[in-house]
Amino acid sequence: MRIATITNWAYGATVCLTIASGVAMLMASSAESVERQAVEQRYVFDQLTEEVEVDAWALSDLARLYVIKQDPAVAEEYRQKAETMVRIEHRLQKLKDSGASEEELALLHEGLQVADALQDEQQSAIASAGRGQQPQAIELLYGERYENELEQVQNQLDHFRQMLDRRTDAAIDDATVKSRGLRTLSEVMVGLTALMFLFVLGFILKRRVLRPVVRLSDVVNRLASQDYGVEAPDYRQIDEIGDMAQAIRIFRENGLARQRLEKERDADWAIRELLARMTQRLQGCESIEDVLNVARLFAPSIAPGIAGRIWLLEHDPWQMRCVAEWLDPQGDADPFHPDQCWAVRRGQSHPPVNGEPDIACYHLPDSSAPHALCVPLIAQGEAIGLLSFQNLTPEMAPSRAYLELMAEALGLALANQRLRDALLEKALFDPLTGLRNRHHLEDALRTQMNQAMHSGTPLSCLMIDIDYFKAINDRLGHDAGDQVIKSVAAIVQRAVSDKGMAFRYGGEEFLALLPGADEETAFTCASEIHAAVHNLTLRYELSEIGPVDVSIGIASYPQHAQGDNLLRAADVALYRAKELGRSRIVSFGMLEESRIIPRPV
Ligand code: GH3
Ligand code: MG
Ligand code: MG
Repeated sequence: MRIATITNWAYGATVCLTIASGVAMLMASSAESVERQAVEQRYVFDQLTEEVEVDAWALSDLARLYVIKQDPAVAEEYRQKAETMVRIEHRLQKLKDSGASEEELALLHEGLQVADALQDEQQSAIASAGRGQQPQAIELLYGERYENELEQVQNQLDHFRQMLDRRTDAAIDDATVKSRGLRTLSEVMVGLTALMFLFVLGFILKRRVLRPVVRLSDVVNRLASQDYGVEAPDYRQIDEIGDMAQAIRIFRENGLARQRLEKERDADWAIRELLARMTQRLQGCESIEDVLNVARLFAPSIAPGIAGRIWLLEHDPWQMRCVAEWLDPQGDADPFHPDQCWAVRRGQSHPPVNGEPDIACYHLPDSSAPHALCVPLIAQGEAIGLLSFQNLTPEMAPSRAYLELMAEALGLALANQRLRDALLEKALFDPLTGLRNRHHLEDALRTQMNQAMHSGTPLSCLMIDIDYFKAINDRLGHDAGDQVIKSVAAIVQRAVSDKGMAFRYGGEEFLALLPGADEETAFTCASEIHAAVHNLTLRYELSEIGPVDVSIGIASYPQHAQGDNLLRAADVALYRAKELGRSRIVSFGMLEESRIIPRPV
């Protein structure tokens, strides 16, 4: 039950009890006044009847005295007394209104009538005495009848007084009992009111003061130990406890806000650290795949819960191709035209503000579009790709800046890798033929030779030179010569693609390294190349280039050379092939055996 209800009930009960107690007190007091009235009435009756009795006797004595002495002064005194007697009787007549009962009044009137009869007799005796008839007058006033009547007056009045006393005593007893009962009732009710007041006071003290204070003290202790999870009580009463509860609630809310800010700051720092670490790792990447691996690893931690994809812009065909993704983004990863992305079109993040209505990128599935963000990967002012994110919510708005920072770092790293790859390509590959160049050869030869020595497997080298190439150049021009070089290079590349590596060694010279191939295998491969080139039909513009042939020198590890002189041995074999008339294959082993290789047909 609510305290307000209890206090209302208690207040109502207290008011009722107080009113009832007051009424009982009033009733007790009224009973007392009834008692007082009864006493007063008895007193009045007693006094008047006493006076009537005394006056009746006095009148009788005066009448008797006059009858005997016949003194006029006595007669005058009698007359005055008689008048007094009349007044008294008149007052007694009026006493009916003062609460005397009919029976009592009847008794009183009877007594007064006898007194009046006596008075008549006295006046008759006085008149008789005045006429000189003294004996008759004496006979009348001293006769037995007169004495009896006199006695009857006294008896009647005594009887009246006794009756009055009985009634008055009963009324007093009744009023006393009633008054006492009502007083007791009133006292009980006052006691009950006091008890109820004490109970309600104690109850309210416990419920409204003691209990809230204990609860607030517990909350304060927990807040002091930075336990802001504690629920602050919501006492809305308008008093000191209500003020204290309000202050504690504000303190807790401030603590929670501070804790949240600290958490956000820590999370912010953690993300910055992650971004810094990712940037460091990106700097150490040696390939685009490395960059993508770093992105896959760091992105879910930098933006938790946000799925993403990296798209790279390809020039042939002109499209965005997905190269990495994390946290299972929606929609397929099919390539799309760059114009389908508003971020790529505008060269900045899209949509610009999170949650605001804006046009969605067309490459996104409809369901994910409202919570997506596309950030173009830009390097040196040129879009090289796209970072697309999904599942962004308004709460993640602060992460947006980090997503853009991540895109910036990834864009730079990818551009660096592209530049690096281009430079590497230029440094290691021949631009005309696409074959590895001589710089690459040094590393490759060292590696292959080490492997061969370590594993004890053979390693063969083919040195290939186009015969009379200068003549082609001279006859048809440099471009025609380039075309021949490219065609021969393609044949060499095709012949060794699954068994080794092809290099452009010089102007019209090529080299093939065949790991695991012995002299015989190498010879077979060389024969393939020789035959393919020989069968080549080449045209430059309108003129036929004519037959092209190559001379090939072969050297194999470990048979013909050790370590770094494998190339030298192949070169010697090639030189021998040229010497022998070109368009042939000479193995270093054949030189030792002085075998002459016939020119193939
Ligand atoms: P041999 O049969 O003895 O090998 O005679 P050759 O004419 O093939 O050899 P030579 O060393 O006399 O001539 C090679 C010519 O190749 C010289 C050079 O002008 C030409 N050359 C070198 N590099 C290129 C190139 O990249 N393109 C073209 N078109 N010609 C080149
Ligand atoms: Mg040459
Ligand atoms: Mg040549």
